[in-house]
Amino acid sequence: MRRTPLVLLLILSLFVGSVAQAQRRTQPPDTKRPKLVLLIVVDQFRYDYLERFGDLFGANGLKRLMRDGASWTQSNYDHMPTYTAPGHGTMMTGAYPAESGIIGNEWLDRASGKRITSVTDDTVKTLGGGPSEAAASPSRLMASTVGDELRLATNDRSKVIGISVKDRSAILPAGRHANAAYWFSTVTGNMVSSTYYFNQLPAWVTTFNATRPADKYFGAKWERLLPESEYLRRAGPDSPSYEVVTSTSDTNAFPHTITGGSTSPNTNFYWALDYSPFTNEMLESFAQQAIVNEQLGQDDDTDVLTVSFSANDYVGHRYGPYSQEAMDVALRVDREIAKLLDFVDARVGLSNTLVAFTADHGVSPIPEHAAAMGLPGGRIKAADLFSTIGVALKARYKSDDYLLRFKEANAMREWLINSNLYFDYDALRRDGVNVEEFSNVVCAAALTVPGIARCFTRSQLMRGATSVTDPIERRALHGFYPARSGDVVVVPEPFKYLADTLTATHGSPYSYDTHVPTIIMGPGVNAGRYLEAATPADIAPTLSALLRITAPSNSTGRVLVEALRK
Ligand SMILES: [Zn+2]
Repeated sequence: MRRTPLVLLLILSLFVGSVAQAQRRTQPPDTKRPKLVLLIVVDQFRYDYLERFGDLFGANGLKRLMRDGASWTQSNYDHMPTYTAPGHGTMMTGAYPAESGIIGNEWLDRASGKRITSVTDDTVKTLGGGPSEAAASPSRLMASTVGDELRLATNDRSKVIGISVKDRSAILPAGRHANAAYWFSTVTGNMVSSTYYFNQLPAWVTTFNATRPADKYFGAKWERLLPESEYLRRAGPDSPSYEVVTSTSDTNAFPHTITGGSTSPNTNFYWALDYSPFTNEMLESFAQQAIVNEQLGQDDDTDVLTVSFSANDYVGHRYGPYSQEAMDVALRVDREIAKLLDFVDARVGLSNTLVAFTADHGVSPIPEHAAAMGLPGGRIKAADLFSTIGVALKARYKSDDYLLRFKEANAMREWLINSNLYFDYDALRRDGVNVEEFSNVVCAAALTVPGIARCFTRSQLMRGATSVTDPIERRALHGFYPARSGDVVVVPEPFKYLADTLTATHGSPYSYDTHVPTIIMGPGVNAGRYLEAATPADIAPTLSALLRITAPSNSTGRVLVEALRK
């Protein structure tokens, strides 16, 4: 039997192989967790900013993240509306708004008949804010975050802190069981918090506020960081006709002097400061103070710090994504990110830190700019939408008064929040109107309004009658939380706004609003550019896998295994 030696050899080699494998398995795995998780968010930072301005970034900021981290080039939010709160509610929960419950920055609370924000909470009080300032907490966030799960895993020893200029951007990524969240008060100019976390601001925060960190920017002149030629080449002229600034204390041209039209620091000035790059600087120095005073990353129980830079969103809204101002605030936030990473490197070590970088949403071109570029840009007036619906309702029913309204000035107006319309169920019941049929009449009418592309009804979304292969339907479904959402969701055509006020905005299910950076850097992550589809909802499960903890409760994102070391 000539084959026997071969078979024996095979058996022998299998045996040797399994012994080697067993030996490998008995070696203790590297179970040491990183000391710090640092989430860096830039509000309204489109993916393409990394490409449009990439060569102008410094070596230690976004360039470092792209060089030393794993960067996904096809990272899109898979929900609408693409706003600040839903985005921030997704990145550390891995959950869509349909599960986080954070369906918008604001929505209509049917129980009280009031418009509420994602974080306002009447049961708590602000600490460091003005007496009439709405207090905030994560009580409307329905899912756990990476920070919450870490605290469960370490018997509460992990520290979790969220900071931003905006309350929602500080509160939501940190989570329900965070140690603290801090944001900027445009009433007092302080970094503030709420009694949800503690009864008194920590001494180091009071000390920080005592230096009047915002006031030192009073009268500051915002100039371009680089020569104008760079801006002309990449962003075009400084003051195109479509860059309409309505603020009485600002124009659409550099330099911008930040006073808010006041002679000394006050609320008007603090609002004006929001629309400058300077709050990003203030926030970065506050982040350093948090790291030092809370001793983040100083022991083996992983801490979490989430830092969300808001200035880019305010600036993008006022001047538009292709403005010189938007370009400049992108270059400037890169410098702040570099400072923060350098600081973390010196104090904790980047080799001990998991860094995630993303944005809460993108932004669309100013509609008039889009139109000038041959794209179907335009603005749809809410009044036109409702008058068309009103005509259709009158033709079909006894009354056209079946949508929930509110009083504005001396007129009643229909609620339109996040492109959601709300039915007056009492009136429908009173007149014996069939809700399903009524929804269809409303949608059919809405679809005749120029610029409205799609319309979804509550029953369609509740039944799961939407198609997962149609991204618009899927994104509407992922943004729909039955107890909080409206009864009809309309979607404008691309490049069109269903919003009356802002120069530029976001919120749509289209690429310019959904395509954002997702970068993860740190121990266990293989650097590189990854072309696989990803979403910021993947950040939470991926961090959880790297931290070897349970993923947040409603994490539906994917572990980005292509970049993880086995
Ligand atoms: Zn925004």
